[in-house]
Parts: sequence; C-alpha cells; structure tokens
Amino acid sequence: MSPNMSNASSPKKRDDSDQDQFLTILSREDALARFEAALFPRATPAEERPLAEALGYPLALDIVADIDVPPFDRSNVDGFAVRSADLASASEATPFRLVLNDEIIPCGTAPTRPVLSGTATSIATGGPLPRGADAIVMVEHTQPTGGRAIEVRRAASPGQFVSYAGSDIARGEAVLRAGTVIGSREIGMCAACGIAKVSVVRQPRVAVVSTGDELVQPGQPLRPAAIYDTNGAIVSAAINENGGEAIFAGAIADDEAELEAAMRRALESSDMLVLSGGTSKGAGDVSHRIIARLGKPGIIAHGVALKPGKPLCLAVCDGKPVVILPGFPTSAMFTFHDMIVPVLRRMAGLPPRSDAKVTAKIPVRIASELGRTEFVMVSLVEGADGLIAYPSGKGSGAITSFAQADGFLKIDALADQMPAGAEAEVTLFTPHVRVPDLVIVGSHCTGLDLVTAPLARAGLVVRSIAVGSLGGLAAAKRGECDFAPIHLFDEKSETYNTRFLSEGLELVPGWRRMQGIVFRPGDARFEGLSAQAAVRAALADPACIMVNRNQGAGTRILIDRLLGEARPDGYWNQPRSHNAVAAAIAQARADWGMTIAPVARAAGLSFIPLAEEHYDFALVTARKQRPAVRAFLDALASEESRVALERAGFTKA
Ligand code: AMP
Ligand code: MG
Repeated sequence: MSPNMSNASSPKKRDDSDQDQFLTILSREDALARFEAALFPRATPAEERPLAEALGYPLALDIVADIDVPPFDRSNVDGFAVRSADLASASEATPFRLVLNDEIIPCGTAPTRPVLSGTATSIATGGPLPRGADAIVMVEHTQPTGGRAIEVRRAASPGQFVSYAGSDIARGEAVLRAGTVIGSREIGMCAACGIAKVSVVRQPRVAVVSTGDELVQPGQPLRPAAIYDTNGAIVSAAINENGGEAIFAGAIADDEAELEAAMRRALESSDMLVLSGGTSKGAGDVSHRIIARLGKPGIIAHGVALKPGKPLCLAVCDGKPVVILPGFPTSAMFTFHDMIVPVLRRMAGLPPRSDAKVTAKIPVRIASELGRTEFVMVSLVEGADGLIAYPSGKGSGAITSFAQADGFLKIDALADQMPAGAEAEVTLFTPHVRVPDLVIVGSHCTGLDLVTAPLARAGLVVRSIAVGSLGGLAAAKRGECDFAPIHLFDEKSETYNTRFLSEGLELVPGWRRMQGIVFRPGDARFEGLSAQAAVRAALADPACIMVNRNQGAGTRILIDRLLGEARPDGYWNQPRSHNAVAAAIAQARADWGMTIAPVARAAGLSFIPLAEEHYDFALVTARKQRPAVRAFLDALASEESRVALERAGFTKA
C-alpha cells in the first residue's frame, strides 16, 4: 500500500484506506525508517544568538577564531623579561647581574622599552613580552642588588615561562565544529576569541494539541466523568527536554471541524505537530482523517507493532512531521521517546540521546505479546547479588507506572516472554538513578507515607511498590525488598498476617484500620444502623446496588460473611482497592460497600465500623541491620508517627 493512499478524495474511499492503514501494522523499525526517510535530509534553519543565550543549542556553523589566543607573547609568571643568551653561564657560583630597565609591565600594558643585552624588565603574569626579550626569569630565582639591578643564579632557556601568540588558539583555526552542543566550556572558547554571537540551529517549534471531550486543564475544577489532561503537560516538557520549543495549544474536543481548524492553525506557526488521543478507530476518533487533508504525503504509518503504543500514527504533511500519540499517557510517552524523540533531536541538530543502561535481573516472568516490541517499565532494587528490575505493572493507563519507574526494558517482538531470573538491559530514564535505600513491596496504605516522611526528610530514598499483600510476601521471600506491608486474614485461625510468614521473615506490627460499611451521607436506608442491619436493609431493597472487593482481599471475606448466600446487584463489581470502593459510592455508581475509615472520611462518606484490619510488615530478617531499615523501625515506633497515624484515622498497633 502506498503511504499517500489516504489522500483519496471521496469520503467512501477515504474510509477504506484508513481502515487499511490501521490494519497494516508496521514493525517499529519499518515505521521509524519510513518516517525518517520522508523527513530527511532537510535543511536545518539557523539563527544568531547572543553567546549568553546559546547554552544548550547546537552550533549551526563551525566557529573559526579570527584572532590569536593569546594575542601576544605573554609571561606566565611574575618575574623579569630577559635575553636568555645573557644568562647562559649564570649559576650559583657565578651569578649574573642584569640592570633593570626603567619600566614595569603589568597586565594590560604594552611595553615601550626594549630589553637590551645585560638588562631585564620587571613583568607581571599575563604581561606582554617586550621587544628583545625571549624568556622570563621567575622573581623567586633572582636577588635584588644595589643600584636598580638583579642577580640571577641560574641559566634561562629560550621561551622559558612564555606563552607565544596563538599557542592556545591560532587565528584561522576552527575552534568548535558545527553540531557541537554549547556548554559552559564552549562558551569559554568563544569568549576567549572575542565572539559575542553565535549561529545556532533554531529550535524546532512543536505545536502540542491534546484531543478528547473528557479533558480538563490542570488548575480547573474536574467535572463528572472528566479527567485532567496529562499528555499536554508531559509531551510539552519532553519536547523541551529534547531540543524543541513546545507550543501548547490546549485540549480540543472530539469535533472534526473544530479539530481540523486547530490543527491547521497549529501547523501554520510551527515546524511539527504532536497530537495525542483519538488515534484508535473509536467513534469520534477523527484526527487521522484530518491529517490526510493537511498535506502530502500524509500518513506514513498508522498502527505500529509496539506495546504500549500500537495506535501510533506518523505522518508528514508538506514537509512537517505530524504525529498522533496514543491517548493513554504511558503509551504516549513511550511512543514519543522511542519514535518521535529521534526525529525531533535530528531536526534540532542534536545528537541521538545517549541513554544510560544497567543490567538487572528479572525476579518474575514477564509475559509478552508475540509480534510486538514491548516496553516494560521497571523499578530498580538492590538485591543480594546485583540489581533487580521489578516490573511496575499498572498498565498503560497508569501515569505512576511511568513516573515511579527508574527505567524500562525491551522485549523483542519475536519473544513471547522474559523468563524469571533473566538478565535484562534496563534503559534508565535519567542517567543517575539512585537505587533506593529502603524498598517496601506489598499493599499500599496512605499511613505508610506518614511513617516514611522522616526518612525522606533525612535524605533516604524510599521506594514503595504496590503489588498487593501476596505479591509483597512473595517479593519478601525472594529477598527483593526490606519489608512487605500485608493485611492477610487467615479464616481458620481468624487472625491476621502471622500465619502467612515463612522462614526468613518476621512480623513487625503496623497499625489497625477500621473497616466498615460506607454509604452516601443522608441515605436513610443505612443511617443509624449496625453493619449487619445495614446489609439486611440493602438486601431488602432491590434497587440498591453494592460494590464488592476482589477475591483474596481481607475485606472481601468480611463482606461475604455479612452477605451469606445473597448475591445482590453489584456483587460482581470487584475492584482491587479501598479507594475504588469509595469512589464508586461517592459517584453513585453503587450505594454501599466496605472500606476503611480514613478512605471513607477522605471521600466524604458515612461509615459504620465493623472490624479492625491489621496492616503489618513482613520484615526480611536478613536485611534487619541495614541503616534504612533501622530508620524505618525507629520512625514506626516514634511518637510523631503515632500521632500522625491517629490523626489520619489509623490506630497504632
Ligand atoms: P483515545 O485514544 O482518545 O481513545 O484515548 C485513550 C485513553 O487515553 C482514554 O482513556 C482517554 O481518556 C485517555 N487520554 C487521552 N488523551 C489524554 C490526555 N491528554 N491526558 C490523559 N489521558 C488522556
Ligand atoms: Mg479520545
């Protein structure tokens, strides 16, 4: 299929070709090669910038010195300008006497008197060599004698302590090459040559447009069913990080006419256009259709064998790259870094990114889709023998999986997994990743942030990876973390946590979280009842909808006990967190459920207490003596954290 088929004119035909394009999924390498072939080679526009404002820009032209540096022969020391031949026989035994000329040469003063045989002229470091002189004698190697003269007790070689004109930089020398990125050292070179303005590659202006009816800009109130526009901010920042100048045009609703107008406007005043969202074939996903009308050759690739990032759309419209990133922020960022950054940097005249890489072991098997190059974000943890890369598996819709990861690993399109124990190459997001001092893997609780606050203040890096109680326990058994926070209920013994520990782990009591029934304040069905009575009331009302919890959650066991054999409407809605339960009820998608008191309070819900859940820590005994572990245990035992936990609605164990 030719890449410009999307320019077909009839609407019917256009739809067909769009369908084709999405079905023709290119490999990552093919898509990138075609995109680059459609864009390069191209002229790089240059601009003059004052030296002080050129930091970080690549030079558009070689910089050639038009003076010598230093511009004259110069003394390197404080001393006397002499004729070396005069001192050929000077020694301790036979000091040689030189008569001082009636002149002193400080820095910045041109000499007026020649140095004749048998004479010397006093000269400061940086002073220009006077006529006749060919060497400098250090002041320390001379002795004043009576009648404006000095004695020299050692020979001087020609050129001694002299920097010759042009010895640093010679007039006509190319001191900096085009393409060099200007740093402080390059600025110093230019300043030494007297250059005040440099010709640099002009930053590509990149228009950024978010698309979607659901998007609200940060700072604005969030209306129901809306989300904050994440891509606008993150894509703009990533453009600026990679040599572009981002021009953010806001979020545009999924309206073909409005979007087309915005895209044309944005493209007119920029060198490149980056959209996000609306690239799948969903209703209202129209941007790729508009691209076909913006210029030739149009769409180069729509659908790339990448995960995340399959719906990526790459186009070139009359020489300008136009890109639609997938909507999910993590997918948007991966495709941006992998597929767009190389092109942007080339347009900006910058060298390819030199990403720092480390080798780390994979603790768990990572399944991968055959046929797609898959990127997996990982958090790094110091293991017993080297780094461990923990996949942060929140899915492509989760912004934290990107923000809290240290880097990513790549699983080849031809592999269907990466086995547990494999050594993988991890590309770091920033070159100086600091492996955390304390690693907590397990169930997350907002109380945890209160306890670790003093550690963060003391400069310790704490990494908390939320994988649930069982996942944390498994990580602790493998020795991949310091602690696993757990709240596991053993039905047989009716106790929390202790029964789940194995050899090498010990229990550190944490805090208690009151669990109870939650409902919207003012719901007369539940007001004033006990938990048991509230559930009976809910079951008696066929219009009442519940929200459950996932199998395996301690909370689920409590709910099932209250429900007995009943399976009311909403039973199969089984979110995995306390917060999701509260959100469902606060937003009236459900009427009752069970969560913990602090979460209920934060969501503004009414609460009927039922039972205390024990949130404790499985400590890896072998790691007990680590300073950060000690610091955590101290923090946990402190009065400060007891007060903070109680204020937040938890009870210290
Ligand atoms: P779309 O490709 O437009 O169907 O978007 C896919 C998903 O990404 C949807 O859940 C969108 O709400 C979400 N999304 C799209 N654009 C953004 C954005 N700028 N910021 C945050 N999420 C977004
Ligand atoms: Mg959308």
